[in-house]
This record gives sequence, C-alpha cells and structure tokens, in this order.
Amino acid sequence: MENFDVAVIGAGAAGMMCAAVAGQRGLRVVLIDHATRLAEKIRISGGGRCNFTNRDAGPANYLSENPRFCRSALARYTPQDFVSLVKRYKIGFHEKHKGQLFCDESSEQIIDLLVRECGAGNVTWRRPVDVQEISVGGAAGDAGGRSFRLSTSAGEIGAKSLVIATGGLSIPKIGATDFAYRIARQFGLEMVEPSPALVPLTFTSAGWEPFAALSGLAIEARVSTGKGRSRGDFLEDLLLTHRGLSGPAILQISSYWKLGTPLTIDLLPEFDATARLLEGKAGSKKLVVTELSGWMPARLAEVWVAVHGLAPDARVADIPDRQLRVLGDALNHWTLTPAGSEGWRKAEVTGGGIATTELSSASFESRKVPGLHFIGESVDVTGWLGGYNFQWAWASAVAAAEAIAESRNPAQASLA
Ligand SMILES: Cc1cc2nc3c(=O)[nH]c(=O)nc-3n(C[C@H](O)[C@H](O)[C@H](O)COP(=O)(O)OP(=O)(O)OC[C@H]3O[C@@H](n4cnc5c(N)ncnc54)[C@H](O)[C@@H]3O)c2cc1C
Repeated sequence: MENFDVAVIGAGAAGMMCAAVAGQRGLRVVLIDHATRLAEKIRISGGGRCNFTNRDAGPANYLSENPRFCRSALARYTPQDFVSLVKRYKIGFHEKHKGQLFCDESSEQIIDLLVRECGAGNVTWRRPVDVQEISVGGAAGDAGGRSFRLSTSAGEIGAKSLVIATGGLSIPKIGATDFAYRIARQFGLEMVEPSPALVPLTFTSAGWEPFAALSGLAIEARVSTGKGRSRGDFLEDLLLTHRGLSGPAILQISSYWKLGTPLTIDLLPEFDATARLLEGKAGSKKLVVTELSGWMPARLAEVWVAVHGLAPDARVADIPDRQLRVLGDALNHWTLTPAGSEGWRKAEVTGGGIATTELSSASFESRKVPGLHFIGESVDVTGWLGGYNFQWAWASAVAAAEAIAESRNPAQASLA
C-alpha cells in the first residue's frame, strides 16, 4: 500500500487547488480522478474562456442553509489572491460584466496553471482511477491514530487526511457523480437535498405555446421569486426558448426558485407601463402593438397583445382603462409558474450538498469524522452565475489545505 499525508479525490477546480497548496506546504499528496480528460468543467466553463473569479465576490453572492458558513474561507482567499496567481502565470484576462473575469484566450490556461501548481507541490497523480471503497483505520495514521484506506482500481492507498472534491451532479456526461454524497451517507453526515441550479426553467407545452415561437428572443428584465431571506431578485438578460426561459436572469433566479412557486418578471423595469398607457391614451391614434413595440421587440409585443385577448389592430384610445391597467400591470408584473427545469443535463451547478452543520467553516473538516474534508461544489454553498463558483472552489480548497498543513506540521505551515 502507498501511504500519503493527504489523498484528494476529484481533480477538478477545488481538488487541484487543494492538492497544489497542500503539496507546496510540504505534505505528500495524491490526487485521484476517475475521468479520462482532466478538469472538463473548467475547460467548458465561461464558453471556453473560464470566468475564473468575480472581482466583487462576497458572502452575499452565495446560497446556503447557513449563509455565514462561506465567510471565513472567502475572506481568507480572495478574488485578488487568485488574480495574483493568474498574473504570475502571465495569463491575459479581462472583465466582461459586473466584475466577471475571463481569460483572454482559453480556459486551458487555468487548467495548465493548476497542473503546474500541483507540480510545484510534487503531487502524485492517479488518474483515470476509480475509488471503490474507503475505510477508516488506525494502522498508517498519525499520532491520533486515524487513517483512511482507499481501495482503488490502481491498488490500495493510505492517507492521514482525506479530501473529497468530487463536485456535484450537474452534467453527468462529463463525469459528475454522487460520490461525495455516497461518502457522506457512509459516514452518517447530513445532506441538504441536491437540486439543479443555474439552470433554464421550463413550462407546460400548452402554457408556453404562444411564446415558443419567440425562441431566441432576448430582453433585459427584472426577475424575482421567494420571500425574505430566500428571495432572489436579478436585473439581467432573459432569453425565450422553445420550452421556457433561460439567459442570465433566469439562471440566477433558478437557484432561488422552488417547484410550484411563481416567478415575477418585470419586462419594463425602467418605467410604469400602466401609467404610460393611460397617459398616452388621450389623443393617441396608435395601435397597442405599435405602442408596445416602442418598448420591447415587436414580435414579443404582437404575442403579448394576442395573449391578452386584443386584436392586432386594437387602438390604445379604444381600450377601456380597466383593460389597459391589466395589460400594463402584466408587463411590470408578469407572474408565471414554471413546470420544472432542464435538470442536471443543463444545470451549471448543484444547489445543496453536504450540510454545513457537519463541517468546520475554517478547515472543511467533518465534525463527526476527523481527517475527512469536503470542499468545492460538494458542500451546501452555491454561488451566483459570474465566477462565484470557481472562487468558492479556490477558497474552500485553500482553507482545507492550509488547515491540514497546520495540523500536520504547525511549524512548517506557519513558515510557508
Ligand atoms: C457548462 C458550465 C460552465 C461553467 N462556467 C463557470 C464559470 O465560467 N465560472 C464559474 O465560477 N463557474 C462555472 N461553472 C461551475 C464550476 O464549473 C463548478 O462550480 C466548479 O467546477 C466546481 O468545482 P469542484 O472542484 O467542486 O467540482 P468539479 O470541477 O466538478 O470537479 C469534480 C471532479 O471530480 C471528479 N469526480 C467525480 N466523481 C468522481 C468519482 N466517483 N471518482 C473520482 N473522481 C470523481 C470529476 O471527474 C471532476 O474532475 C460552470 C459549470 C458548467 C457545467
């Protein structure tokens, strides 16, 4: 059996970062992944340019049953820290929108950065390798006597600390599995039910029929759902699709949306549509469609008028105030209940995961199983769209790696 200080399972964003930092702090680290292609999610991220962090990332940009859990790690390893690393590797980057930082060239550069950081930490790679079983024993352990024994397709591996960085369930076809959740179950750790997040939302085909023909149409809108602490509210682009709604506004709100509850969409966030319609009524010769087409794409205006039971040639001046109020109010408060989402196949991330009550927010170590850590997307911390999820991967990875180094070798860790 090969023995290591730390075994990290999952060589994605969080796993590579954790292995690299632990290795650079002087620990013997093995990094295991089952996929044939390395870090596929980083490769496809940000449309191939990897939105690797957000300049303004902070606790308010994350969802969790415990919104305070992410604070310590995010404060310890900031977006600026990752930007410094990116600059050290001379990777060109730019800000696209609302603090989102992307590579100028390719997400491969971030993978290459992480591989080289692992090299600097003398990390031992085991991939593609399957982990069949994990057991806890005392044989190869530290002074505390605990160690983990991994049965893998490449033989037995022993480690004093075990870090689970196998991510969530989104996009199974590129290697996502429920491994982290199975390990949590094995050791009796609580979970927050995983759900697809940052995902397009769908409607029943009958309900969506009038809008399906507008697939591809985009409009800036304010979308909200929920109440109190679980309320989401985003002003972003919204995209109509054959089956429902997508685009940044919808991906963001999907993380807050609960099945059976409505979304409210303000299609004209800049002004009060009812007031404008009533004000413009006197002396107007305009068709309603023409009036609305001044405010939104003409194709949407035509469908909007039709679904509100108005003829295509209806004139604003001829419509009773009561009906104009209904039309205007719906433009500012379009309330509709999605039937579901596009699911794991399209979700960018997983909501829920290992309950934060099970973990230390400083070290990500299990309270029940000392030496066992969960990081990255496997944990019940979900970032907004816009680089926040990678920042969580980096920050949780660094916190776990440094805590392990500190516990194994306090003197060396503090020198590093
Ligand atoms: C299409 C898409 C685009 C995205 N774009 C962005 C973006 O631009 N910015 C952003 O911040 N976030 C983005 N995300 C989200 C981001 O990719 C994830 O939040 C992040 O990768 C999570 O990191 P992780 O290390 O926890 O998990 P992952 O990166 O998913 O890594 C998990 C690793 O574990 C391995 N693994 C899984 N199961 C096993 C097993 N049983 N045995 C061994 N290994 C296993 C996998 O092969 C994988 O290598 C995007 C996601 C998607 C799907």
